[in-house]
Amino acid sequence: MKLLLVEDEKRMGQALQELLRQENYEVDWFVDGQDGADALASDEYDIVILDVMLPHKNGFEIAREARQKGVKTPILMLTAKSDVDDKVNGLDCGADDYLTKPFVTKELLARLRALSRRQYNVDEGKLLFGDIILETGTMNLRNKETGAEVRLSDKEFRTMEILIANKGHIMTREQLALKIWGYESEAEYNNVEVYMTFVRKKLKFLESKTEIKAVRGVGYEMRYENV
Ligand code: CA
Repeated sequence: MKLLLVEDEKRMGQALQELLRQENYEVDWFVDGQDGADALASDEYDIVILDVMLPHKNGFEIAREARQKGVKTPILMLTAKSDVDDKVNGLDCGADDYLTKPFVTKELLARLRALSRRQYNVDEGKLLFGDIILETGTMNLRNKETGAEVRLSDKEFRTMEILIANKGHIMTREQLALKIWGYESEAEYNNVEVYMTFVRKKLKFLESKTEIKAVRGVGYEMRYENV
């Protein structure tokens, strides 16, 4: 899961980055509001932790602009005071949840889990599609009919995670490259194809009826029994 952290207090940012990495989030941290806004607009993150008071652009502006651009990434806003206006403001600007500083890390992690669950609309720690279950904790892919399971590599897991999270939509290889590797280039486009082959092999190994369909000239889409 790729997480964007925008926080200008160095000690806080460092501590959060460390904590989140321990929790297996892939973290990009920015201290400047404008840099954070640009990163969020790239639409490559699964979740955002956004401080309110930031240099050059505040959290409210960043959230509002992102939503205007159609970015749907869940936003957890960090408000400095338990000021009701701040909370209301944040939610009005398109944040999904807020946490008042100082907070306990347990609560932060719980809020992040809740937000990612909301995004994927699944049980905790599991992504479901067709006859398969993708377990976020163990990185196992399981056939829920037969119980057969196989361990995925980091990038294979990410590939499946993105395809399931975007079920019903065709994902272009450009979008996949950006979400998996964080940037686009010919090399990453080829990587996308390679990883599709890996993941398909694992689906086949599980004798799953879930397929990754290539839509010629467009991208990839998850299908189950051709539905
Ligand atoms: Ca701040």
